[in-house]
Amino acid sequence: MIAPPLRQRVGRKLRLMANSVLLASSPQVTCNLCGWQGRRFVDDEWHPRATCPRCGSQVRHRLLAAALTEHPGLRAETMFGQRAALHVAPEKMVGSLVQKYTQSYQTADFNRANVDLRLDITQMSAIADGSYGVFIACDVLEHVSDDRQALREIYRVLAPGGWGIFTVPQEDHRQETLEDPNIQTPADREKHYGQWDHVRLYGADFSGRLEEAGFTVTVVDEQSFPPETVARYVLFPPALSPHPLATNYRKVFFAQKP
Ligand SMILES: [Zn+2]
Repeated sequence: MIAPPLRQRVGRKLRLMANSVLLASSPQVTCNLCGWQGRRFVDDEWHPRATCPRCGSQVRHRLLAAALTEHPGLRAETMFGQRAALHVAPEKMVGSLVQKYTQSYQTADFNRANVDLRLDITQMSAIADGSYGVFIACDVLEHVSDDRQALREIYRVLAPGGWGIFTVPQEDHRQETLEDPNIQTPADREKHYGQWDHVRLYGADFSGRLEEAGFTVTVVDEQSFPPETVARYVLFPPALSPHPLATNYRKVFFAQKP
């Protein structure tokens, strides 16, 4: 093979250098919750380059936002309409997004004081049947002893056609949820469930618990979006966590009450 002329080689090298300078200075990732743009997100305890430095959004929050704004079957305008939304263990950046779509937005928590309602989601007797159009609980159910009872209650307080929006940590490739009554101490929970205050480790069968409660389930993950959307919003961890209990494959569960 004959080497290309020197001028051609130098020209190609200059173009490559110019491209890499451009890549280094232009934003490559965008937070679809707060609008932050930059070369990369920052590291957190579990994943490198997956957390927004401005609002703290993680993959699950940005998947949720992408579902509400870009998924053809789950448009926020139709999901929320003018219906009331209840957000438990509320994340500020998710709340800000939701409030663009609904006039009636309330927050709730079991422990926190700076919310509208103090609530045990397994016993919401103060809330009438069918009160809400949307109920959001991201990474909440893994803390709740009787999650099936919580799901029955959420189903009850939703109006027909209403939506529960859920995320839970799921161990990579685990099928059956691990829930062992012998695992009780914080140290054991951390060892087996991945965090001291988690009461189970969900598997792929989480969808089944939603269906048991009566919901019709739509699952959203990175495969629900074009690759350029996944890359721009970082809807999948840029590097997999090597921790054996990490949730590398995040999903958002949209559960509709028929
Ligand atoms: Zn952000």
